[in-house]
Amino acid sequence: MNTEEILQIAIIDGTVHTDTPEGRAIQRIIVDLASYGIEVTTLASPEDARAALSNLPGVDCILINWNVGGGNHEKSETASRIIGEIRKRNEAVPIFLMGEPTSEPPTSLTIGMIREINEFIWVMEDTAEFIAGRITAAAKRYREQLLPPFFRELVNFSRDFEYSWHTPGHAGGTAFRKSPAGRAFHRFFGEQLFRSDLSISVGELGSLLDHSGPVGEAEKYAAKVFGADRTYFVTNGTSTSNKIVFFGRVTGGDIVLVDRNCHKSAEHSLTMTHAVPVYLVPTRNRYGIIGPIRPEEMTPDTIQAKIAASSLGKTAGSQIPVHAVITNSTYDGLCYDAAWVEGELGKSVDSIHFDEAWYGYARFNPLYRERFAMRDGAEHPDGPTVFATQSTHKLLAALSQASMIHVRNGRAPIEHARFNEAFMMHTSTSPLYTIIASCDVSAKMMDGASGRTLTGESIEEAIRFRRTMARIKREIGHGETEKDWWFGMWQPDAVTDPGTGAQVAFADAPVDLLVGTPSCWVLHPEEAWHGFSGLPDGYCMLDPIKVTVLMPGVNDDGSPAEWGVPAALVVKFLDTRGIVNEKSGDYNILFLFSMGVTKGKWGTLLTELFEFKRRFDENAPLEEVFPDLTEAYPDRYGGMTLSGLSAEMHAYMKDNRQGELLQEAYAALPQPVVTYAEAYRKLVRGEVEHVPVSGMANRIVATGVFPYPPGIPVLAPGEPAGDQDGPIIRYLLALQEFDARFPGFEHDIHGVENVNGEYRIYCIKEGTK
Ligand SMILES: *Cc1c(COP(=O)(O)O)cnc(C)c1O
Repeated sequence: MNTEEILQIAIIDGTVHTDTPEGRAIQRIIVDLASYGIEVTTLASPEDARAALSNLPGVDCILINWNVGGGNHEKSETASRIIGEIRKRNEAVPIFLMGEPTSEPPTSLTIGMIREINEFIWVMEDTAEFIAGRITAAAKRYREQLLPPFFRELVNFSRDFEYSWHTPGHAGGTAFRKSPAGRAFHRFFGEQLFRSDLSISVGELGSLLDHSGPVGEAEKYAAKVFGADRTYFVTNGTSTSNKIVFFGRVTGGDIVLVDRNCHKSAEHSLTMTHAVPVYLVPTRNRYGIIGPIRPEEMTPDTIQAKIAASSLGKTAGSQIPVHAVITNSTYDGLCYDAAWVEGELGKSVDSIHFDEAWYGYARFNPLYRERFAMRDGAEHPDGPTVFATQSTHKLLAALSQASMIHVRNGRAPIEHARFNEAFMMHTSTSPLYTIIASCDVSAKMMDGASGRTLTGESIEEAIRFRRTMARIKREIGHGETEKDWWFGMWQPDAVTDPGTGAQVAFADAPVDLLVGTPSCWVLHPEEAWHGFSGLPDGYCMLDPIKVTVLMPGVNDDGSPAEWGVPAALVVKFLDTRGIVNEKSGDYNILFLFSMGVTKGKWGTLLTELFEFKRRFDENAPLEEVFPDLTEAYPDRYGGMTLSGLSAEMHAYMKDNRQGELLQEAYAALPQPVVTYAEAYRKLVRGEVEHVPVSGMANRIVATGVFPYPPGIPVLAPGEPAGDQDGPIIRYLLALQEFDARFPGFEHDIHGVENVNGEYRIYCIKEGTK
C-alpha cells in the first residue's frame, strides 16, 4: 500500500441514505471528506458490514453508528459486536462511534466498548467540516504508522525518482526498456519492482550487512514481534540461515548433536565447518511418517554414550558437544515441548538451534504455546543460547528466499559483533531489497491481533477439512463392499473436552474446541492413531495445519493390507487436476493449510478426491485418466485401468516389503568412517567413483543419499553402505526395481544417478583413505 494512495473511510450507519436530519448530516460529512480527496464506502446494515469485514483491511478509518441494526432495545449490541469483530483483526484502525442528539447518553455503551473506540462524534452538533477534519487526521496518522520501518522508507525513496550512478545497472528499470525481451520483462513486473530495486550504496535505507538505518530498525521491530533478543534478515533462505548459525557456533573438530531428520543445509554446514556430527535419531511410525526424537535420546547419559561409541568422536578436539540442531516442527507437523527439549539438551550443550523453517507462525497462535523456540518468559541467564531459523516465505507471507534468524542469549551469549562475521560471510553484498521489505511486512502482518486472526483462519480451515473427511469416512468408508472405502486422516479418532471431561468423536467435535485446545492435538501415549510408542504425554503435538491424508494399504499393526491404493497414483491424479500437494509417502499425502488458503478452498480438494474414487471404482482406463503416461509408455500401460495399475503397484510394494525395508534401512544408523569434510575433499579431488548399488557392499559413500521427500539421509557422506544383503542396499535395490517396473513414477533420490535404470552412487575410491 502506497502512503500516497487515496485514503479510504467506511461508514456503517442505517440512516446514511435516508432523508432525515441524521442522514443529511452524514451526507454533509461525506461531501466534506470528498473535498479532502477521501473515498467513502457506506454500509447501511449490519449484514452489509459483516459481509465487508474481510475487505476492511484497506480502510483507514471506520465510522459506526451505535444505533446501527435498528430497534432501541438492541441499541449498541450490534455496533458492539461489529466493533469486536473489527478489533479481532486490527487493533490500530481508528474507529469513531457516531451518536445523535436524540440518543440518550449511551447507557448501553459499556466500558469494554469505549476502550475499543478512538473517538466519539455527535453528527448533529459538531460541524461537518470539523468532523471531516478529525477523521482525516486520524486516517492519516493510521496510514503513516501502517507501514513497517524498512518498507516505509523504501516506498518513500523509490518515489523520489533520483538519477542513479550506482548498481543495479538497470537503473530503475531503464536498461530493460532498451530491448524487446527486456521491455517484455519490464512490462510483466511493472515499474515499482525496478524502481525499488536499489543497492547498498543508497545510504538512506541502511545496510543489511551492518544492520544499520531502516534495515536495522526493521530487524529490531521483527525481533520484538518474534520474541527474540536479536533478529537477522536473511535473503537466501533458511538454507543460508542454518549455515550462518553453524558458522557462528561451530568450528573444525567440534562435536555437534544433529537431528538425523535435518535439512540438507545442516549437512552442508557440517561439511563446511568440518564438525563431527553425533546423531539424535527420530522415530518412525507404521505409515513411514517420521516422528520426533524420543526424550531418552536427549539425556546427557545417552549423549555421552553416543559420543563414546562414535568412531569419529575420538578424532574430535573435545568430547564435550558444543551445539545441537533440532527440526521443529517435523515435516509432518509434529512439534516438541520446546521448554523440555531446551532444558534437557541444555544439560549437554550451550546452544540449541531449532530449525523452524516450516513453523514461523507458531508464536502468533495460543494453540502452539510452549512448542516453539522464542517463547515469552523463556529467557534464563543459565539456560542455553537458543536460535530459531524460519523460512518466512514458506508459511508466512513473504517472497521466496526470505528467512529470519532469531537469537535468545543464555549462559554463553553470542555477541552480535562476533556472530555478524558469520552473517556477513554468507550474505551477498547486493541483497534484494524486495526480499528485505517482505520480511519487514511479514513481521507487521503478524504483529498483534492480525497475527492471531491470520493464523486462526488457516487453523480453522484445516480443521473444517479434517472434520469433513472424518464424517465422509464414517458415512461411506465402512468397507462392507469393495466400493465402501474412503481416505483416512492422520489425526485422533476422538478428542476430550477438558471442560466437561467428555469424549467426542473427532467428526462431531465442535470447531471451537479443536481450534482452541492443544490437548486435542497432543500425541497421548494410550492412543493408537499416531503410531508412535514411548512418547510421554504432552511431549509432542500434531499441528492441525499440516494435514496428512492416508490411503488404504497399511494395517493397524503396520503390515501391508490385502488391498491398497498407493499414494503415487492419487498424487498424479490430483496433479492432472491442478492440485499440488506438499509431499507424499507410500500411502500418505501431506497438504499444507497456509495463510494463503481462502475459505472453502479445500472444497476443491475434496471433490477431486471423490473424483479419484469414482474413476477408481468404475475401473476407468488409464488412457483417460493419465493420457500422458499411456502415450509415453504405450507398451507398459496401454490397455490398463486405474484400479489395475493400483493393484499391481500395491502388490509389488507388499510382496517386496518396501515399507519394512524402509523401516529397517533407517533403523540401522551406519558408523561413519570419515567426516563430511573429508568425504567432500575426496569428491573434489576426484578420488571417487560411480558405483552401482548392486555392487556397493561396504563401500563408503562420498555424497549423502537422500530419498525425497522429505530428504532424510539413508546414508550420510562418509558412511559405509553395509552388506550387500543388509537393509540399506536392499532398500535402494527395491526402489531401483520399482522405478524400472513403474516408469513415470520414479523416486527422487538426491545423491543417486539413475543411469539407464541402474542406480549409481559416488563412493570413495578404495585405497585412497
Ligand atoms: C526448507 C527447509 C530449509 C531451507 O529453507 P529455504 O528457505 O528453502 O532455504 C531448512 N530447513 C528445513 C527443515 C526446511 O524444510
